[in-house]
Amino acid sequence: MITLKSPREIDIMGRAGRIVAGTLARMREVLRPGMSTEDLDSEAERFIRSHDGAVPSFKGLYGFPKTLCTSIDEEIVHGIPSSNRVLEEGSIVSVDVGVQLEGLHADSAMTLPVGRVTPEVERLLRVTQESLTAGIAAARLGNHVGDIGYAVQKVAEGAGYGVVRELVGHGIGTQFHEEPQVPNYGRPKRLARLLEGMTLAIEPMITMGSPTTRTLADKWTVVTSDGSLSAHFEHTVVITAQGPRILTAH
Ligand code: MG
Ligand code: MG
Repeated sequence: MITLKSPREIDIMGRAGRIVAGTLARMREVLRPGMSTEDLDSEAERFIRSHDGAVPSFKGLYGFPKTLCTSIDEEIVHGIPSSNRVLEEGSIVSVDVGVQLEGLHADSAMTLPVGRVTPEVERLLRVTQESLTAGIAAARLGNHVGDIGYAVQKVAEGAGYGVVRELVGHGIGTQFHEEPQVPNYGRPKRLARLLEGMTLAIEPMITMGSPTTRTLADKWTVVTSDGSLSAHFEHTVVITAQGPRILTAH
């Protein structure tokens, strides 16, 4: 069932979203080659809990042990922060974070360069971000969930990249994952109609090579099947009469 949120719920999700955005801004600030993903995770948890009533959404969700998902290079999503994973110059790391506040969630991710990266990698990051922007722009009344995926896919595949199919965006609210699923591919006017008060986490996962995935032995980390690099950007958005509003804007 797709739930429509009240103005009060949207206000709370907006406050959760600002903490999410602040966490990602903090990650960008502290990220350095040589630090571990565990270092990022502990700083993220400290930052979130420094806000009254805010808790990390991921910790304990389906048994996930950490505050962040940190996914390096060919890892697409759900990488587990670890003191053994040291960030190397030239890598990219997707930092994904959720915050729960007063019973409601917000969710956002960005892929950050570690030090200097090649122009090819910069292009992957830029296009993935542009595909998210296009998906958000399509999240308006009169459109359907399929219009969002169509817009994302057009930008990403138009640039020659792969669009991951096995993982999708989602509704979000009192539950971290709610209906509807929000694929990053599709056709206009398909799937659920977009209604005022719907809150969606839109999150393109884009690869330089094959879009197919496999899951590592840790049962969490999802990687590209061909080892190609992958980028991931995400915002939580509410559908309003005035158009999409980003609740996790930086
Ligand atoms: Mg996320
Ligand atoms: Mg999400």
